[in-house]
Amino acid sequence: MKFYIATKNAHKIAEFDRILSPLGIELISENDLPKPLPDVDETGTTFAENAYQKASVACKLLGMPCIADDSGICVDALGGAPGVYSARYAGEHGNNEMNNQKLLRQMENVPDENRGAHFACAVCCCFPDGRVLTAEGKCYGSIARAPRGTNGFGYDPLFLYGDVTTAEMTNEQKDEISHRGRALRDFVEQISKYI
Ligand code: IMP
Repeated sequence: MKFYIATKNAHKIAEFDRILSPLGIELISENDLPKPLPDVDETGTTFAENAYQKASVACKLLGMPCIADDSGICVDALGGAPGVYSARYAGEHGNNEMNNQKLLRQMENVPDENRGAHFACAVCCCFPDGRVLTAEGKCYGSIARAPRGTNGFGYDPLFLYGDVTTAEMTNEQKDEISHRGRALRDFVEQISKYI
């Protein structure tokens, strides 16, 4: 069964594919479309709202089941920031380097015991018949004092899960514990009843 995935992020597409292909779900993404879909403004105040906005717009336009996710990092000492603004924390959308530098600056004077943070992910799937399925996952850890590791993307080099950053994990290790892995496993459980 073909599902459209409304993200341009190749790392995310690969993570979704690793988890959904064993269910017989074939993902297509923007590169497989004759022309790109219009960008959707992420105006929600929660990850779930943003995921729904992206999935529902794509579903209306394509008339096929569409999956979208929204995710980010929430830092306790920053009152949950950057949260839904994670991708554009330093101003420019998707500039990981600048986002990580800003996070390190903001956390410079925060002691080890107050450096708690979590990644959060909401996954939404909209079906052409109007059904909507939403799943969420979180991964708790803390913010490192310097980047470590070269795997993953985004804030991974700064996110400590125990003693290692998620950028020091293999894809499989990260899938086991990540917010997206958890949301996707919840999603898989729900979607297996639909297909
Ligand atoms: P979006 O979900 O594409 O809107 O992006 C959210 C932003 O949160 C990304 O640009 C990353 O900076 C960050 N983020 C989300 N998930 C992860 C992850 O698994 N590792 C590192 N950063 C992440």
